[in-house]
Amino acid sequence: GKEWTDVRELVEAMAGTEVLIRGRVHTYRHVSSKKGFLIVRQKGSKVQCVVTESKENHVSVNMVKFVRQLNRESFVDVIGYVVLPKDHVTGATQQVEIQVRKVYCVNSALQMLPLYVEDAARSEADIQAGKPGANQDTRLNFRVIDLRTPTNQGIFSIQSWIQIGWRECLLRKGFIEIHSPKLLAGSSEGGSAVFRAEDSFTHRHLCEFIGLDVEMAIHKHYSEIMDLVGELFPFIFNKINENCQKELEAIRKQYPFQPLKFLPKTLKLTFAEGIQMLKEAGVQADPLGDLNTETERKLGEPVREKYDTEFYILHRYPSAVRPFYTMPCADDPNYSNSFDVFIRGEEIISGAQRVHDPELLTEQAKRFGIDVETIKTYIDSFRYGAPPHGGFGVGLERVVMLFCGLNNIRKTSLFTRDPLRLAP
Ligand code: ATP
Ligand code: MG
Ligand code: MG
Ligand code: MG
Repeated sequence: GKEWTDVRELVEAMAGTEVLIRGRVHTYRHVSSKKGFLIVRQKGSKVQCVVTESKENHVSVNMVKFVRQLNRESFVDVIGYVVLPKDHVTGATQQVEIQVRKVYCVNSALQMLPLYVEDAARSEADIQAGKPGANQDTRLNFRVIDLRTPTNQGIFSIQSWIQIGWRECLLRKGFIEIHSPKLLAGSSEGGSAVFRAEDSFTHRHLCEFIGLDVEMAIHKHYSEIMDLVGELFPFIFNKINENCQKELEAIRKQYPFQPLKFLPKTLKLTFAEGIQMLKEAGVQADPLGDLNTETERKLGEPVREKYDTEFYILHRYPSAVRPFYTMPCADDPNYSNSFDVFIRGEEIISGAQRVHDPELLTEQAKRFGIDVETIKTYIDSFRYGAPPHGGFGVGLERVVMLFCGLNNIRKTSLFTRDPLRLAP
């Protein structure tokens, strides 16, 4: 009949009450055959449970021994009284302790685990100071354990808030949420049409990633799409900052980073201006080509210095580096009504006005070497009445990675899918 109490709800005002908590065995600190400290962990919260041999509490020496022998990461139910500790409790997040009456093992973990949470949670500084760490491969191989670190709990909480912010802002503006099919009869955008057969081993590409997309009608100008991006993302960033301070702090402890600099009114630069800024910084970039990861990062530096922002939009990309359905600029078809969006000098979004004229669409598809027969239904859909429109696509893992200044997208993917990894 007793209800379980959340570890994070354990506060001083509860002193003297009996509680039942379920959590994992984080560590056990042995004092004697009659006493020990069991740290029970629940998500990011930890509470110290004191096990003391006591006639009054019906705790025997055997019971102390049983608790001592519990395997780490096992799930336990602890029944005990909330007490105020004499000293500051180290290694716990809660300021109160539990004086244990009973402990049940709900489900035991193996005695030897392939990865321990505190090793996965070790900061670079601690590893350099000689403490044991765990390499990325081990952590990804045993991702179920790795996901229990405070950093990873924080990362996926932030991911969740990004989606909350995304939905809240867009639904408020009258958008609805839809789910499109992922399989196509034809190939439309080079080799990576369905799932990303990325052959590159980079810090920012996955074979499967989570894409958030917007498509919208526009009235006069593709800047309407950019204005939406420019409002939506500061809204999302503020959402994270309002709701995830603890999470950000946990991540920063393991992977230090500076808070993202962004302006209330998002900066827009043209691609040509970007090329010019690169030139002034001594970096050569093709004015009719795409930026690569290196040049994107290089551009991020002078932009931050000049405009004090690490979030900005670069638009009017060369037509040659955009998909066939991208609207060319009315004044110069070498450029297009398209844009990329950057966080800390790396792409998180590509967007554009799409071609709504079926003849122009056909012509551009042919020019890109696409067999128009395979995309007939797509082209035809614009013959039945279609407004000028456009949209953009966001990589969710990239937003989390770059917002938190992390160095690898595998850190922000729940279960990494890359050319070498299909499991777990
Ligand atoms: P990149 O230049 O980094 O290769 P892209 O320009 O090929 O990216 P788009 O086709 O424009 O990517 O896709 C829109 C967004 O989807 C990107 O801005 C990025 O956030 C995300 N994205 C694209 N490819 C990947 C990938 N392989 N892994 C993770 N995210 C990706
Ligand atoms: Mg790519
Ligand atoms: Mg790109
Ligand atoms: Mg792109």
